[in-house]
Formats: sequence, structure tokens, C-alpha cells
Amino acid sequence: MDYDMLFTLMLIVIATLCIVMLAARRFQKPSEGKYETITLRECDSCGYRERRSFVKGDYVLKINGVCPKCGGTMTIMKIYVEKAEARRQKGYKQISPQ
Ligand SMILES: [Zn+2]
Repeated sequence: MDYDMLFTLMLIVIATLCIVMLAARRFQKPSEGKYETITLRECDSCGYRERRSFVKGDYVLKINGVCPKCGGTMTIMKIYVEKAEARRQKGYKQISPQ
């Protein structure tokens, strides 16, 4: 076999590998870098806690809604960013924002 042809083939193989690796990295990024802002509400009376997606206008210590268990007032206790992947693994249920 001709050495020039062998060299060309090797270059093509290396170039293809580079493209595949770059493409694979691009595909991984969305799942790795998925973050979500979470609002944690707590009932002032019974301590019932509820997590939901952050909604514009949320802030810590804001009185936000009524407790589904005892009817007391719900206060936003925490607002934090969480990796979407980690949340799924912990098995939290998604609560739709009001
Ligand atoms: Zn309550």
C-alpha cells in the first residue's frame, strides 16, 4: 500500500474522531448544565414545606399562599439554585407555580 495514501487515511480517521468527540460533548452539555431556581415555602402554623419553581416576584419572607394542610399562611423561606439532574435523583415531585 502507498504510504501517502496510508497517511491520508490516518488524517481522515483522526479528523473524524475529533468531530465525533466535539459532537458528543455538545450533546452532553444541556443535561449537565441544567439548573433551576427553586422556591421553598413553609407554613407558619404547622411547618408544612412545599417546593416549587421560582416565579418572578418571589422573595424570602414573602407571605405566599395558604397551607393546604391547615389553612395557615405560607412564607417563602428559601430561594436557591439546584441542578435539575440532582433533583430528579432525589425524587422530589414537581409543584407547578401558582
Ligand atoms: Zn399548615
